[in-house]
Amino acid sequence: MISAAQLYDFVHCPHRVSMDAFGDPDERDETSPFVELLWEQGLVHEATIAAGLNITVNLRLIGAADRERETLSAMTRHEPLIYGGRLTAGDLVGEPDLLEWTEFGYVPGDIKSGSGFEGEESEGKLKKHYAFQLAHYVAILERLGLGSPTRSPYVVDREGRRVPYVLMDPQGIRNTETWWDSYQTALSAIRASLNQSNASTPALSAACKLCHWHSHCKNELVATNDLTLIAELGRAKRDVISGVIPTIQAFAQCDPDSYVQKKKTVFPGIGLDTLSKFRARAQLLTVPGATAYLKERVDLPIKDNEVYFDIEADPMRGVVYLHGFVERKFGQAGAAQFIPYFADGNEPTHEEAAFHGAWNYLKARTQDSTIYYYSKYERTEYKKLAEKYPAVCSVEEVETLFALPVMIDLYFDVVKKATEWPLYDQSIKTIAQYLDFRWRDTNPSGAASIEWYNRWIESSDPAIKQRILDYNEDDCLATGVVVDGIRALPVKA
Ligand code: SF4
Repeated sequence: MISAAQLYDFVHCPHRVSMDAFGDPDERDETSPFVELLWEQGLVHEATIAAGLNITVNLRLIGAADRERETLSAMTRHEPLIYGGRLTAGDLVGEPDLLEWTEFGYVPGDIKSGSGFEGEESEGKLKKHYAFQLAHYVAILERLGLGSPTRSPYVVDREGRRVPYVLMDPQGIRNTETWWDSYQTALSAIRASLNQSNASTPALSAACKLCHWHSHCKNELVATNDLTLIAELGRAKRDVISGVIPTIQAFAQCDPDSYVQKKKTVFPGIGLDTLSKFRARAQLLTVPGATAYLKERVDLPIKDNEVYFDIEADPMRGVVYLHGFVERKFGQAGAAQFIPYFADGNEPTHEEAAFHGAWNYLKARTQDSTIYYYSKYERTEYKKLAEKYPAVCSVEEVETLFALPVMIDLYFDVVKKATEWPLYDQSIKTIAQYLDFRWRDTNPSGAASIEWYNRWIESSDPAIKQRILDYNEDDCLATGVVVDGIRALPVKA
């Protein structure tokens, strides 16, 4: 049976569906505490939202064997709002959180602990994994002759908003395929994967970090010298290129110009510059002793003081719980001082107080320091905080501050633009470790920090709080190590 959960997985990684069906369970990694936390928080959130809806039938606690029968029975009675139902049709199974009766038939809905939109909510872009799950419920309802013909299911999102997913709409301006057609394609691909008529392959991506097949897939990718080990290349480009250039070794030895025909490369959507960039990365990964270098000269400003800045946020709770700053005199790595602003509780007043302190500190430091942070995350979160707490500052003030020349996004302005590394990715963790920096914690990651924070909220254990602070301080120190490392890199044409 094909479930909505498989569609969710398919969107993040098509290989995951096949691994879960046919992989050796002994080779699975332990489920991370962060993933367990996500499940727990998802269930708590769902129960909280459900309690505020006018549910007329609650089937959540009925065993799977009886639930389908009870769902159909409730639908026959035209119950206005069914919670926790289960439906099957052919090879499809679905468990929509909500089934809402309209005069034209039932409309399914899901309760989500994330935002109903992708990225910036103002853009109103829908999430593909939500759309496919909802389309799956609609498909089952249609097969059973019980669905509303509108194909407009919905999610109730983190904020309790009802976000309609109009499945017959195009996905965007460039991609005009409807969500519904895209779902049908995904469904066919999953069927092909499950009946083994189409073999999938792993691809290194952000999804791998929290996946229980991470170790297995990483070993396979290394053993096959897979192109997705080249930083930022990814599954889509790998699938376009690998028929002609199958391995990193082959990529390192190729001549990108030989793939140009009529001013374009033979690889659709991949220009000569991109091909050359990945060839350079392939060379770094294959040439013994290859080291990082600058593609162009970079003059990082020199001021008496430097500040390295990093925040920790819990997207499920929608809270920024720590703003960490390490400040030090220029060139004196040993004399670094850590200044944290921690949300000492889970009330909005705690988050606001931490933001207030950090904002005032940051404003003062822009007068006498260069401030480094890694990626646009800090700026995005500060804009959201300003919207939430206008008494601290306005969104315009945040934009103005982050536009100052002393505010440097080390990832976008420097690493991505001007450097190359013999590494599988360009995360701060990977680059700082390459430069011999070591985190004190044995499991340093943003996901782990969120899990610790949630445990600290429940326990107020000072040891857990210290672990969160130490981890953040090390992230800030690592940013300083990368700044120093980049200053020492040679320039290679
Ligand atoms: S580890 Fe990565 S490639 Fe492997 S199944 Fe998981 S997400 Fe897919």
